[in-house]
Amino acid sequence: MIEAGSKPSDFIREIIKEDLANNKYGARVHTRFPPEPNGYLHIGHAKSICLNFGIAAEFGGLCNLRFDDTNPTREEIEYVESIKEDVRWLGFDWGDRLYYASDYFEQLYQYAVQLIKKGKAYVCDLSPQEIREYRGTLTEPGSDSPYRNRSVEENLDLFERMRAGEFEDGSRTLRAKIDMTSGNINMRDPVIYRILHATHHRTGDKWCIYPMYDFAHCFSDSIEKITHSICTLEFEDHRPLYDWFLNELGIYHPQQIEFARLNLSHTVLSKRKLIELVEAGYINGWDDPRMPTIAGLRRRGYTPESIRNFCDRIGVAKRDSIVDIALLEYYIREDLNKQAPRVMAVLRPLRVVIDNYPEGIVEDLEAINNPEDPGMGTRKVPFSRVLYIEREDFREDPPKQFYRLAPGREVRLRYAYFIKCVGVIKDAQTGEVVELHCTYDPETRGGDSPDGRKVKATLHWVSATHALEAEVRLYDHLFIKSDPNNTEAGRFLKDYLNPNSLEILKSCCVEPGLSGATQGTRYQFERQGYFCVDPDSSEGSLVFNRTVTLRDTWAKIEKAQK
Ligand code: ATP
Ligand code: MG
Repeated sequence: MIEAGSKPSDFIREIIKEDLANNKYGARVHTRFPPEPNGYLHIGHAKSICLNFGIAAEFGGLCNLRFDDTNPTREEIEYVESIKEDVRWLGFDWGDRLYYASDYFEQLYQYAVQLIKKGKAYVCDLSPQEIREYRGTLTEPGSDSPYRNRSVEENLDLFERMRAGEFEDGSRTLRAKIDMTSGNINMRDPVIYRILHATHHRTGDKWCIYPMYDFAHCFSDSIEKITHSICTLEFEDHRPLYDWFLNELGIYHPQQIEFARLNLSHTVLSKRKLIELVEAGYINGWDDPRMPTIAGLRRRGYTPESIRNFCDRIGVAKRDSIVDIALLEYYIREDLNKQAPRVMAVLRPLRVVIDNYPEGIVEDLEAINNPEDPGMGTRKVPFSRVLYIEREDFREDPPKQFYRLAPGREVRLRYAYFIKCVGVIKDAQTGEVVELHCTYDPETRGGDSPDGRKVKATLHWVSATHALEAEVRLYDHLFIKSDPNNTEAGRFLKDYLNPNSLEILKSCCVEPGLSGATQGTRYQFERQGYFCVDPDSSEGSLVFNRTVTLRDTWAKIEKAQK
């Protein structure tokens, strides 16, 4: 799928090229994507997926999918399934290399026993609170646990009994014996096993002790013969520990490399925060089209290509930054511009009667499916005496720059005729415009006037008797604040939610060709944006999501930056 050398290089690819040149790891490249199944994947994970699977493909290597399922209390099968679906949908294939850290529990236990035998791990009876107190701070060294000098025999006996279930949750831990005065807090005798009488989604009740992330992760990488263990910057301070575990046991040792995580404006990319939104019901679940999850983006109408292109473009760096969400929108617009068929849909209909057009006549007018791709051909759109146009395309009292329809003014109806507004009917009570009367010029069929007469606007329309009614859901940014993670004192994430992030329009009119449009199909609604058929849609009751508007805010931002 991806050609070698087709991607611009970056510091990770440079490291890999050098390792290949030096024949490190036998000139192999083997990466992994290691999600914890405690939530749905988001666009930040997509960055990591594209990086790990992308690098493997570019360098003729392999990439594993590994579930880091060491925390039984937060993990669920639903998440495992959704993660597999999302990785596949993004276009990546782990082949027969689907692994679970829980598959290694016995091996990990044996590694822990080896550490104990080397005098490099001990069973500690301090409570979690006490461990914290003994740990010290960034400026003060920690102090040794009173249990630090237990004999190897006693440690082996206690650890075995921890496994056998003799002790209560939190009463004991197994800790690495490193250095309580280390400048790196991660090296101050970190906990490597804890007691947790919890049922695991794969191992059931077989275990009541579970390895901590840092311990399980490096060994899982080692067992799978990973060459480059690529992770986000917050693990930089954990690398000495990663290296320590593997060095102490003298086993196969991958290289950990850190890169900056993706942050996106107007949204949050943290499973913990996304779970909060789901559980509080601020949005309608993990696949709500406003969510930055892969499932949400898919439902919204994003294509895998657009997400991959976005991830390639942002690249990898060593410094954290926030990417403007407009850049993501730029990529979906670019992709859909090439492939989405154009159709006409009127979101807020205003009735138009063409007074001089014969009643009972229907003309099938030819419309172009995609001006970007002539191969997509044309279709017929019915035209008749009564039509709908967009309410905002008419102004009774047009301001200066408004060139669309107004009393006495002539405009073009796309693929049809010039029409001129000759009458305005209003609701007697409210004064609201409810219907326009127009005349058409039969000479302008197809959209041009033989006498060279010009009009300044072209409107989309739908024939009233042929139109299908549809629901359209318009989305805007989930958060009004560009960096909602940066909460001010006394404020919460929810305070920054955009109250107008969803607008539902119930009586939209779409052209009849959309009858039977299937879930996930994407269209450009002319002059409106890109839309896709929602799973809530059914035959006779169409529902569309607006993926993105046509307006390119990214171009504006770029211009402003220059
Ligand atoms: P979260 O902070 O959302 O809970 P996480 O790091 O805890 O994310 P994991 O399931 O552990 O989630 O992540 C799997 C992989 O995806 C890890 O290698 C992690 O570094 C990477 N990853 C997670 N979030 C991002 C992000 N925003 N940008 C890039 N990579 C990410
Ligand atoms: Mg994590």
